[in-house]
Amino acid sequence: MADGQSLEEPPKVKKAKGKTPTGPLFTLKKWNAVAMWSWDVECDTCAICRVQVMDACLRCQSDKKQEECIVVWGECNHSFHNCCMQLWIKQNNRCPLCQQEWTVQRFGS
Ligand SMILES: [Zn+2]
Ligand SMILES: [Zn+2]
Ligand SMILES: [Zn+2]
Repeated sequence: MADGQSLEEPPKVKKAKGKTPTGPLFTLKKWNAVAMWSWDVECDTCAICRVQVMDACLRCQSDKKQEECIVVWGECNHSFHNCCMQLWIKQNNRCPLCQQEWTVQRFGS
């Protein structure tokens, strides 16, 4: 006799809507900001002193020797202050941004 089986379903415990913070949105936002920042740096900010290459570098600003602070472009198309780069390549003859061997492409101002 198997008739005694009850059809009663076990009560489903509904999980309360817990607040689970959704990560993806947050991450995307953050990633975006970082990407924009690094693009900006590669284009017109000297990665060594963090000053715009159009302006004099920190050292020249404090020495008030603005006319001597020229911009140098490497073969990798990254640009820096020439005086920052002169100091940098004494330590490490590579582009600070892309780590390629540093070769001067042209100077500008
Ligand atoms: Zn600089
Ligand atoms: Zn300078
Ligand atoms: Zn580079």
